[in-house]
Amino acid sequence: MEELHTHTPASKKREEHMNCDQPEDARRPYDTFLSVASHELKTPLTALLGQAQLLQRRMQQNTNTSERDRRAIDTIVQQGQRINHLINSMLDISRLETGQITLNRMPINLSYVVQQAVEELHLSLVCHHIVLALPEQPLTIYGDSLRLVQAFQNLLQNAIKYSPNGGPISIQLETEGQWALVRISDQGIGIAAEAIPHLFECYYRGKCNAAHHISGLGVGLYVVHEMITLHGGEIRVESVLGQGSTFTVLLPLHVR
Ligand code: ADP
Repeated sequence: MEELHTHTPASKKREEHMNCDQPEDARRPYDTFLSVASHELKTPLTALLGQAQLLQRRMQQNTNTSERDRRAIDTIVQQGQRINHLINSMLDISRLETGQITLNRMPINLSYVVQQAVEELHLSLVCHHIVLALPEQPLTIYGDSLRLVQAFQNLLQNAIKYSPNGGPISIQLETEGQWALVRISDQGIGIAAEAIPHLFECYYRGKCNAAHHISGLGVGLYVVHEMITLHGGEIRVESVLGQGSTFTVLLPLHVR
């Protein structure tokens, strides 16, 4: 692991992003479209996904269900969750751009947050396995657990997605001075050194993805970075091309 990168505060990056892309006025119709479209898509999708998950549970319990039908409903649920994830990211982008994200912060044990993020992903693991190392004592931070679960899920989903040959995904929690650290490592395709400074830009996608046929919108890491920055934290990236990547999230420990 060789490249280490710490990122600039969200507000500064947002300014740079707005300036280099388009003037704020020009972006407004686009942001409104994004926000309205995401909301309009979310309502029917929530109903569709809810019913599909209900069918999935029934089929799992019914011994007469054929393997083919079971696989079909699993695909519907998985793809529905994928669309849901994309819509949530689009909604978050428009909320972030308009400063409308509010955090519901309280003292929470970071180990619980990480466990929850892992639990929700377990069902979708096929050729990967998760190696989780949690400390015995609670690591208390002052945060919004829903938002943090979402951020860790994004990082875990990337770890899975960018290691197409499978392998271990390790998650380690530890403390360093006043910080709680969550380290997520994979043994996947890795990231080119010149890509690292751009990873957290909105819509940025690495050049290597095409060779590996890995699709995406390039918004996940942007949202993660903004969420962690709103919590007073940082993200660091270490990676060696072809060998894997480690994303380390640092969050301030809560001292009473
Ligand atoms: P997306 O995955 O939709 O492209 P992200 O914002 O989550 O968007 O990630 C931005 C880029 O960062 C990706 O396109 C990919 O090039 C790179 N990346 C993110 N996570 C990893 C990882 N664990 N291993 C290798 N590359 C990664």
